[in-house]
Amino acid sequence: MRVTWAGGELTFRLGAEDEITGHASDGHPVKLATNSCVISGAPDDAHPDLFAVAAWTVVAPWTRRRITFDRAVSAEVAAALHDGWGIEAGPVGAEPRPDGARLAISYSGGADSVAAASVYPEAPFVHFRRVPHRRVPNRWPHYRSDVLAKLARRTGRELTIVESDLEYTLAEPRPGYPEHHAVAAGALLLADRLDLGGLGFGYEMGSRWLGGGRYLHRYTPDNDLWAPHGKWGRLFAAAGLHIVLPVGGVSEAVTMRLALGSDLKEHVRWCLRGTDGPCRDCGKCLYKELIQAAVERRPLDTPITADRALARKWFKPPPYGGQEMIEYGLARVPGIEGTLFAKTLEYFDVSEESTRWLDHCYPPAIDEIPAAWRDQAAAFMASNVGFMTDDERRRVETWGS
Ligand SMILES: [Zn+2]
Repeated sequence: MRVTWAGGELTFRLGAEDEITGHASDGHPVKLATNSCVISGAPDDAHPDLFAVAAWTVVAPWTRRRITFDRAVSAEVAAALHDGWGIEAGPVGAEPRPDGARLAISYSGGADSVAAASVYPEAPFVHFRRVPHRRVPNRWPHYRSDVLAKLARRTGRELTIVESDLEYTLAEPRPGYPEHHAVAAGALLLADRLDLGGLGFGYEMGSRWLGGGRYLHRYTPDNDLWAPHGKWGRLFAAAGLHIVLPVGGVSEAVTMRLALGSDLKEHVRWCLRGTDGPCRDCGKCLYKELIQAAVERRPLDTPITADRALARKWFKPPPYGGQEMIEYGLARVPGIEGTLFAKTLEYFDVSEESTRWLDHCYPPAIDEIPAAWRDQAAAFMASNVGFMTDDERRRVETWGS
């Protein structure tokens, strides 16, 4: 693999051993569409490790043995690529990038991201905005990235919007991030200019500790995507930009509660299908409605009926993606037995008591936040959430077993 940057455009040439099909770090199969993309706002003089790691978030699935960058990287970044992926990276010769002083939030506008932002009220936002690719037709016209950008502007936070077409480098399963970390490509390139040493993501306990992005249903302390000691965590750290999960110790019930109680509440948006708010009619809206109804202790309010195709997954036995939140909702939503989740309820024996651990913070998630930002997260969790008891911690550590 050979990578070139020119004026904010990343071009990559596959080598003989590379392939246009591969797997993202979470195991999901992906297929390449095209070999270039643009990322707005990148200063030409950013540290070479930042260019290298940003490129790696796009080219990792296709690279088999070696990668050649157009500027020398540090031995630390080359070692992280070798140890994590078995890739020979070069040329090597740059001094490592020192850690920056500030933490930014990678802000999507969803409830988890808003909750992460509420932990650090002074942190600037970096928002990734999808724009069309000049050579790839846009088959996703309903995806309203302008809505999210507008909502992000209204938050009043210091904000940098990064525009990129990098999602169109992916042909299958659909346009999207080649690796989840590609959402951070713009923040990486801006890290020198913004003096960033940490980047906060809205990944919550389910993503970090209970199985990762696509569902495994097991305890994942060594999560390769988001653990500081996982391969991505070590690579970002080598470039002086630590991955930080401000809400990595709490469930989606807690992030929902925090988001709805936040001064950013008006700007929360987890579904882009609706024109003026969430559509209420898609699978994601149904899942979020179950959580919100549980948090607000009110009956389920959804137009989706049991005869709809998207209701069918809830008639099948578990495991489900986000199962901990399904259990939480089944235990707490009044009248759930009269909704499309009636069948799901038969698979579980849940109660408020058995799901109470999902209201508290898992302490190891705070311990793994870098020292510069740890105390603030700990104080926030102590006053707004509360920490798990030893018994509750065991619920996390025996999840799926
Ligand atoms: Zn929706």
